[in-house]
Amino acid sequence: MNSAPFRVAVVGSGPAGFYAAGHLLAADLAVEVDLFERLPTPWGLVRLGVAPDHPKIKTVSKAFEKIAAKPGFRFLGNVEIGRDISSAELAGLYDAVVYTVGAQTDRRLGIPGEDLPGSIPATALVAWYNGHPDFADLDVDLSGERAVVIGAGNVAIDVARMLVLTEEELRATDTADAAIEAIAGAGLREVVMLARRGPAQAAFTTPEVIELQELAGADAIVDPAELVLDAASAAAVPGDTNAERNLDALATIAAMPVTGKPRRLQVRFCVSPVEILGDGKVEAIVIEHNRLEADEQGRIQAVPTGERETIPCSLVLRSVGYRGIAIAGVPFDERAGTIANRDGRIVDADGVVVPGAYCAGWIKRGPSGVIGTNKKCATGTVDGLLADVAEGRLAGGAAASAERVSALLAERGVEVVTNKGWAAIDAVELARGTEQGRPRVKLTRWDELLAAARG
Ligand SMILES: Cc1cc2nc3c(=O)[nH]c(=O)nc-3n(C[C@H](O)[C@H](O)[C@H](O)COP(=O)(O)OP(=O)(O)OC[C@H]3O[C@@H](n4cnc5c(N)ncnc54)[C@H](O)[C@@H]3O)c2cc1C
Repeated sequence: MNSAPFRVAVVGSGPAGFYAAGHLLAADLAVEVDLFERLPTPWGLVRLGVAPDHPKIKTVSKAFEKIAAKPGFRFLGNVEIGRDISSAELAGLYDAVVYTVGAQTDRRLGIPGEDLPGSIPATALVAWYNGHPDFADLDVDLSGERAVVIGAGNVAIDVARMLVLTEEELRATDTADAAIEAIAGAGLREVVMLARRGPAQAAFTTPEVIELQELAGADAIVDPAELVLDAASAAAVPGDTNAERNLDALATIAAMPVTGKPRRLQVRFCVSPVEILGDGKVEAIVIEHNRLEADEQGRIQAVPTGERETIPCSLVLRSVGYRGIAIAGVPFDERAGTIANRDGRIVDADGVVVPGAYCAGWIKRGPSGVIGTNKKCATGTVDGLLADVAEGRLAGGAAASAERVSALLAERGVEVVTNKGWAAIDAVELARGTEQGRPRVKLTRWDELLAAARG
């Protein structure tokens, strides 16, 4: 009988990574978890995605801190799998590996002009205003009068709302300092959000729409004519609670007087981007109007009408979805943009399970669902792993020790940020926050983060 603990590497410290680690450490098994993270800071999109003006949502990090304090847990920040350690090496060093790397890039629109300067994926803008160190120098030109946000999900609404917050609203949050200065000082007067389908199909959720009714520095605008439902949508809405509530909240906005606040946030429906125009940078966007039709399966589709319109703008934010990135050596489903898997067990190109390899979170399911969705998802994956151990499909006991992994990283010159290093970063950010009456003031550059981690 082997008495060595079962050693698991979890790759990526967002919600899925923490929930996977937590469920493993709560199991009836002598287990050690090394949680790898490419950034010096943990929590994934809870730190670097969730809008800074939604601080309550970010408090889920308290649950992650409890997991990080459990015996058997190690945080290994500033270690990128695929760069500092390969996936093949990881498979040799651990009894099992769980990939929870999230969706690190954006989907493309596939229209001319998409790559003009001034056309930015929402993924990048979100990372910039949240202080992601890879995006500290993102060139966000907010000097023009109008920005257009393409998309009708919660990320699109976050991005549109963040751009019209007042300096006072921003200073109450942990928005990156550079973003506060840029947004507060911007010449921006109007943000227009474009939804391909109608108000009954928009993916955003009602609390986000209600927030638009309460903006201090911007009038929210919805054209009442765009809320008149086509027959197919009208038939589909009854019983669809999100759609019913969204329509109510949008109708409230449509009825609100425009009071002349410094900025406007307009939501438009049934329009698709066709081309982004500009000589060396974004100057306008061409959109086409759509009508809605139910297809054979009853799904309501946008059908272009041929009627086009040009909206002058200097910034286009493309918010049409996140997408996973392949890690060398880990089977990837290009179509879905996820790691190829069956219920969290990674499968090769022939659909055969790769022993000891698992995934959870957005890289398993694709980029949808709220933070809590990843708990069920990660728990499901780990239950599969534990069943594999219990039923003898994973022997265990072959893993390298924690010391050996640390020595390997040291040999390679990787400056690992441990939980102690992260605690030091956290303390600096919180102290700065206290000085300024803010939840925290983030360090947004690699050198600052690593210096703080050294204490
Ligand atoms: C803009 C935005 C706003 C959101 N707002 C909300 C909200 O208000 N409420 C809510 O409930 N949900 C919200 N969500 C959804 C929520 O953030 C996700 O459901 C959740 O973060 C997905 O968890 P994850 O662990 O799969 O991925 P992530 O949170 O993305 O974590 C993945 C981690 O893996 C790391 N990583 C990637 N590659 C490697 C590698 N090769 N080696 C090591 N580490 C790696 C990344 O740096 C990252 O830290 C929002 C999402 C976005 C994008």
